[in-house]
Amino acid sequence: MNDELSGAIEEAAAIVKNARHVVALVGAGLSAESGVPTFRGPEGLWTKHGEPDLRDYDRFVEDPKRWWEMRISRQSRFGEFVEALDRAQPNAGHLALREMEELGYLKHIITQNIDNLHQLAGSAAITEIHGNRTKLRCVACAARWPLDEFPIEELPPQCPLCGGVVKGDTVMFGEPIPRDALDECSNQTWQCDCMLLIGTSAVVYPAAGFPIDVKGMGGHLIEVNPNETPLTRHADVILRSLAGEALPKLVQRLREMAAEGERHA
Ligand SMILES: [Zn+2]
Repeated sequence: MNDELSGAIEEAAAIVKNARHVVALVGAGLSAESGVPTFRGPEGLWTKHGEPDLRDYDRFVEDPKRWWEMRISRQSRFGEFVEALDRAQPNAGHLALREMEELGYLKHIITQNIDNLHQLAGSAAITEIHGNRTKLRCVACAARWPLDEFPIEELPPQCPLCGGVVKGDTVMFGEPIPRDALDECSNQTWQCDCMLLIGTSAVVYPAAGFPIDVKGMGGHLIEVNPNETPLTRHADVILRSLAGEALPKLVQRLREMAAEGERHA
């Protein structure tokens, strides 16, 4: 480990240890370390295949039955994305976040990713701003079900609780972020006095506002990202590294500090 990174890990560990309510804000960079393609950037899906249809959600609302027929029948032009998602496994960064939660240092994960990898890693407290590709959701009451636990007998499927239309949980272009997820994000941000910014440049709202709010309330920001981002100038500590490298080292340092504390007690 280079000196700069080890110094930053030391600082980050001290902040996390003394914080009351640590929240991780996670973006596509963490999933990219698991082989999930990103949308933007030179190898991004949008760069290669063109920008997405921003009327996706309107089309769904206009004719949900047709949308479902397409979903079931079509060869998605994002087939490579779907295949990569099916293959993706949690990486060392996901596992380190799970460990931080188990040790009591991490209270919540707010993720912009839809890939279910935090759940696969074993994390419990998760809010998914953009939904989860392995679930379905009622647009009326926001009830959610794992895909394989919801028998689809008619199109569009109807919510057994309220009769509303059911769609994939993944938030579509033009679709509002589900209210319950937004509320939980506000709740977490309000309590947060240390936010880990992992693999996200947080240029897209609402996520872009959370770190600024935390900072505005006197909290600390720790950036974990191999690249500089628009958030870098707001960060108190910068771990300029892949999450899969930096986060396990952060957890290791937290464990060492806890052991040292016990020896002195
Ligand atoms: Zn419902």
